Amino acid sequence: MTRMGTLILMGVLGSAVAAAAVESDGAWVERASYGTFHVVVGDNAGNTERLAASEFVRLWKDTTGETINTSMSPTDGVNVWIGRSAVSALLIGQLRLDDLENDGIRIRTFRSGAEGFDTAALVLSGRTERGTLYGVYDFFERYMGVRWLTPKVTHVPKTPPESLAMIDYRYSPPFWYRECTYFSRASCGPEFRRVHKFEDHWPIAFGGHTLYDLLPPEKYFAEHPEWYAEVGGERVAPTEGRVRGPIDPLIAEGKAKVGQLCGSNPEVAEQIAARIIECTERRKDPEFIKVRENQIVFSGASPHPSGKIWSVSQMDWFGNCTCDACAAIDKREGSPMGSLLTMINRIADIVGERYPDIKIHTFAYLYSVPAPKHLKPRDNVLVQLCSIQFNFARPFADPDCAINWVFMENLRKWAKKTDNLIIYDYIVNFSNSLRPHPNLHVIQPNLKTFMENHAKGVYEQSSEGAPTPDIGMHHLRAYLTAKCLWNPDSDSEAIIRDFTDLYYGDAAPYIREYIALMRDTVLEKDAIIAWYSLAEWIDYDLVVAAEAIFQKALAAVADAPEEIRNRVAAAHVPVRFAAIACRPRFERQGEMLVALRPPCLRLEEFIDLVKGFGVKDYPPTLDVPISGLLKEIDDVLPARREEVGLEVLENDRVALWIAPEWRGAVLRWRVKDHDAELLRGYEHYGALPTIWREYTHTPPIGQPIADSFRLIERASNSVVLEAEMDSGLAVQKHYILAPESNELTFTLTLHNGTDEPMVPLVKSVPEFYTQGPVHPEIWTQVGGEWSRQNVPAEPSRLEILDEAEYTALAARFPKAKLTLVSTFTPGEMQPLLWAYRSEDPFNQLNLDVLPNQAPLEPGATRSATVCYYVTKKKPKRIR
Ligand SMILES: [Zn+2]
Repeated sequence: MTRMGTLILMGVLGSAVAAAAVESDGAWVERASYGTFHVVVGDNAGNTERLAASEFVRLWKDTTGETINTSMSPTDGVNVWIGRSAVSALLIGQLRLDDLENDGIRIRTFRSGAEGFDTAALVLSGRTERGTLYGVYDFFERYMGVRWLTPKVTHVPKTPPESLAMIDYRYSPPFWYRECTYFSRASCGPEFRRVHKFEDHWPIAFGGHTLYDLLPPEKYFAEHPEWYAEVGGERVAPTEGRVRGPIDPLIAEGKAKVGQLCGSNPEVAEQIAARIIECTERRKDPEFIKVRENQIVFSGASPHPSGKIWSVSQMDWFGNCTCDACAAIDKREGSPMGSLLTMINRIADIVGERYPDIKIHTFAYLYSVPAPKHLKPRDNVLVQLCSIQFNFARPFADPDCAINWVFMENLRKWAKKTDNLIIYDYIVNFSNSLRPHPNLHVIQPNLKTFMENHAKGVYEQSSEGAPTPDIGMHHLRAYLTAKCLWNPDSDSEAIIRDFTDLYYGDAAPYIREYIALMRDTVLEKDAIIAWYSLAEWIDYDLVVAAEAIFQKALAAVADAPEEIRNRVAAAHVPVRFAAIACRPRFERQGEMLVALRPPCLRLEEFIDLVKGFGVKDYPPTLDVPISGLLKEIDDVLPARREEVGLEVLENDRVALWIAPEWRGAVLRWRVKDHDAELLRGYEHYGALPTIWREYTHTPPIGQPIADSFRLIERASNSVVLEAEMDSGLAVQKHYILAPESNELTFTLTLHNGTDEPMVPLVKSVPEFYTQGPVHPEIWTQVGGEWSRQNVPAEPSRLEILDEAEYTALAARFPKAKLTLVSTFTPGEMQPLLWAYRSEDPFNQLNLDVLPNQAPLEPGATRSATVCYYVTKKKPKRIR
């Protein structure tokens, strides 16, 4: 019988039905019998089962108002049998408890007389005791309407359900390891972890970046440099002191050279295995633990108190070993994971011989993401694949997101290599937790993708601060993540609706409108949201639209209790943050470009506001929202109206608008003699990729290299701009118009002003307009001969050409009957990159200027010159 049917029956028959509650036809029990409930545990119940029983009693009181008891024997009321110890072996078999997996749960009701029960019965059990506890929480969420929204806010319905239907429910979560930084004990306490089905007595992670803990360079490097990575021709490791992470001052001040270990060297594996065995054997020996170095190995390399998982994972930077032996393995395996996994497998063999139940954990991270071609991890190795360099605006499995293809390809490859694959994923923007970060739409699809690719566990890294305040809907993101970690097939829209209705009251529809606006904007703009993103996709118009939604949300709760108004005000903070720091709207006014920013709070008002919500900085972690904002804007609120000078290079054939103070970007490139716009960023500044500027070349996502460029030289036909990067690399850009043609000559010059060799990692990226949604033909020239690169012309493609003999690249736009040619000196650009995405609204083609990426010696200068021009001729006819 449906719930509605029960309610109607109640209305007609009144108390007569209540008296017969337990025997009611469709329902399992009626509300009148709630006071007769009684909890039964087995006499050999473990601590977790006893906790599950007391939690049932507590939550039953909260939801029904009835005080009930626990004992080891049933009563003549409704008995709630908790845990395997409470039910007979026969029933364990019938309920198929042993078929559950991980922390799987079983919830089943019985009528009186069924299966030997004298009275109505509810069985709550897992395969394990922990599963039993989670089954209790699941029961109260699923059937009694309880919602643990935040560590401080639990929703309990005002009245209990009029009846409970028959239940026959079983579920096994696909991941044995489910973790999320939001649920660290410091952030939320053990109870909130528990109700969201996170392990409540093990710490949050296995440890990571442990190579230097296991083989301390300050101890061994002097005598054994060959144990450490060879980087740029020399063995490197910091010996001045332990370097803890990539933002360690020792690295920033240039006092520490860092790398990894030499994976191919068997001695390295033997040393590390010996450390693990020694620590395992002597872990309870107080004298041994007193030694600081031993402590470091325990706390750094194996915080897992089970002692069964040891992390042997690369440091938090690049610098893998390139010695001849490592390079040979990596070449054979097609990945620097080759030499790393060689070492990990050796360690796993040595440790596994003595301790077969110990697992060796390692990261596939940054350079080691690509799976090796031939090597497989040993059965006692846990590989944790990390998603740090990918795009969190779109699900990993989105076929339209080329960046994420790389992750998917490697996920699939790793899934075939090991049954012990776990994932390390990122769900906040580490640049600033106050910034809008619309990723709610990718959390569930990504977890489902991990599940479908046989991952056995997931760590979702979020804010490190504790406790996390409710800015930017972190509570909603945490709640959604917990639900989807438990069940990756969850309906995330329904979860968001449920949470927002309960948490934001009458503002909920507007909160959802805001969530949809931000999501739709990143998708429409095809924005990339990196793990550390300054969110350039947020512009004036978006802030104004979001602000209008929040004004409606605030008005809707104007008469609501203060706590609801505060929640809406907290959710509003990221929009107010974006108003301060968003990309302006640009308008051309004569020789000026006018930048307009939306109205915002004064800086000190904003900081007071967020401090009022409990926001703090947590140095030395990346979680420094307040000082991070101040650094981003150089301590000064950006003007709401700003005029940016334009350098306009123009003759009869070409017009070029350059904005030196705005990252030196070229905003317009008009070729008058063919009536063609090659760059049209002046129309919709930055909203679509149609400008030309420079990025760091850290694949696959680059950052702008400088906020502004200085004007060094100006003549009627030329402009020279210069900027210096934080790395100490000076970058000069020289644009020259030819007098008698539409040629533009561009030279990018890089100068290493430091006293260390430097890989330049800079590229100049013109995002040409494809003259409509038409796929361009891409042609290359070698030795005077042209050949077509893309047959057929797909809607999008990216190629990196390594050989040095190319002399020209050309793109033919068939509809416009125009060819854009770029010529250059062979070898100056190495590699050569072309890419396009021609469908609406992108219409984008890149013919990048990528100077040779070999290391640049101190004091050395390198340049690459490209000459671009437009002609009606087809490439084959160009000489
Ligand atoms: Zn090596």
